[in-house]
Amino acid sequence: MSQWPDIMIDQEDIHARALAAFLGLALGDALGATTEFMSPGEIRARYRVHRKIRGGGWLGIKPGRVTDDTEMSLAIARVVLLRGQWELKLVADSFVAWMKSKPIDIGSTVRKGIRHYMKSGELEVPYNEWDAGNGAAMRMAPVALFTLGDEREFKRCTLQQARLTHHHVLSDAACLCVGRMVQAAILGADINGLRELASSLVIKCPTFQFNNYRGQASGYVVDTMQTVFHYLFTTDSFEDCLVGVVNQGGDADTTGAIAGMIAGAFYGPEQLPRQWLKKLDKQVRKEIEYLSPRLVRLSPCAQQKTVTVYTEQRGVEMEERIEVI
Ligand code: MN
Ligand code: MN
Repeated sequence: MSQWPDIMIDQEDIHARALAAFLGLALGDALGATTEFMSPGEIRARYRVHRKIRGGGWLGIKPGRVTDDTEMSLAIARVVLLRGQWELKLVADSFVAWMKSKPIDIGSTVRKGIRHYMKSGELEVPYNEWDAGNGAAMRMAPVALFTLGDEREFKRCTLQQARLTHHHVLSDAACLCVGRMVQAAILGADINGLRELASSLVIKCPTFQFNNYRGQASGYVVDTMQTVFHYLFTTDSFEDCLVGVVNQGGDADTTGAIAGMIAGAFYGPEQLPRQWLKKLDKQVRKEIEYLSPRLVRLSPCAQQKTVTVYTEQRGVEMEERIEVI
């Protein structure tokens, strides 16, 4: 059975959902930064339910400010647009420049990976059993956008961007899954289509099992993905999904960012809460609005009448043709 209720999809809808994915990422980051590293109990005591972009948190940020999750995604997006194609070395250089700019936050695995590149010039960190953090999955939005409809390029760029800092089978699998869910949602997949992609991840790596969610929301990519899946599949709006995720605390800005890109693409731009968009850092919002459509225009989806989309059912890879009008 097809996960695409419509096998025809219009260009305008693709652009709208792609923009919502990127904005959703930034909104989740800005919303979740407030509750990062808090426990659900601490969040409840302080806010009852945290549902406003209000800044603060352990970083003491101003309302609407984003963190490394969005900043690294923007860094990738800028380089791709500048060159009109994927150039991994330039992505690595942009990470170096970003780290030197003294970002408000940077993960330890990310820092280690960027340092490794600076010292060795190598564009892939060695395999490391401690690299199963969520720091590569959080920056999947740009790759998902500019490789829409090009499965081989999607896989290649996903793993390359990930392994600049994270080289672990669980990180790789999560990155591919996040990117695929974003792409499927942009191309109009229904919730069952997204569920199939999540289930396929579980078939390949059973540790991602997300039924009987135990409320772990740490920076371990398995905890992160379980949190995202749980709220994505038990809520029915963008806002409820993100509020659920960030009130789980832990690595809340990153679970927020990942849930934000998937739910943003799935529910589309009309569901992005106005109050949140108003609070979001103006520069960031403007830049995302500039970059998103241009990334999509680099993809086969914006250039061809039909595209082949990759999907999975019960862990089996499948192809589906979609007509773009
Ligand atoms: Mn962050
Ligand atoms: Mn984080």
